[in-house]
Amino acid sequence: MALLGGLSFVFVGGVGSRAPLVPSVQTPGAIRAARTPCRWVSLTFDDGPHPTLTPAALDLLAEFGARATFFVVGGAVDLHPDLVRRAASEGHEIANHTWSHRDLVGRSNGVVLGEVGRTNAAIRRAGVEPVRQVRPPRGHLEASAAEVLHSLGLEIVGWSASTDRLLAEGVDPVEAALRVVAPMGPGSILLLHDGGPVGPRSLTALRPLLESLSSEGLESVPVGELVASAQRGTCSGLVDGELVGPDA
Ligand SMILES: [Zn+2]
Repeated sequence: MALLGGLSFVFVGGVGSRAPLVPSVQTPGAIRAARTPCRWVSLTFDDGPHPTLTPAALDLLAEFGARATFFVVGGAVDLHPDLVRRAASEGHEIANHTWSHRDLVGRSNGVVLGEVGRTNAAIRRAGVEPVRQVRPPRGHLEASAAEVLHSLGLEIVGWSASTDRLLAEGVDPVEAALRVVAPMGPGSILLLHDGGPVGPRSLTALRPLLESLSSEGLESVPVGELVASAQRGTCSGLVDGELVGPDA
């Protein structure tokens, strides 16, 4: 819990609240981790779907029984709708990473809404109901655009950990995974990529990450379920972020 403990002090202690979700500094109002009572984290994959990287990620996740959230780029969804359907059918969550992946900082709210709305429409065309989560490119969005998305019931999701920087510095993937997971506690949201220029390098850390998480007794679930577990204070009966069964 060292990482989240530190975040609690910095972000929540400073404003005197104990909200279940840890806010992001990347975008005002964004979630970067969740105070879940479960031994859960969320692996998240950005910039796909990609014709070879996404199937490789899905195969590995299936091998470990892990579920994740895929923040997809709308233009790629239209090219590879089958991969979006496959991910959804295997229990993963499909979320929004804009249409064109252009930087949204400095853009009008209308442009931001267009990027997000067009991508949700592409996900629907693929036969999957899009979830309410959005991650802007680079994790950055200005406050006014974030407010508009929130007012539409959309959640903006950042991250609290990633192996990408260590890998870019030439750190061995196994070592990078160990360094990222060691200080991690339940509720962390990890950033990976299954598309874009960093995708191939990012995925070299996926197997060691899954092995490290497993050895720490941490399970990966989609962000929606992580958030729901934090908001509702329970680990049982959560399906697609909703409580079902006796706890509902
Ligand atoms: Zn991205």
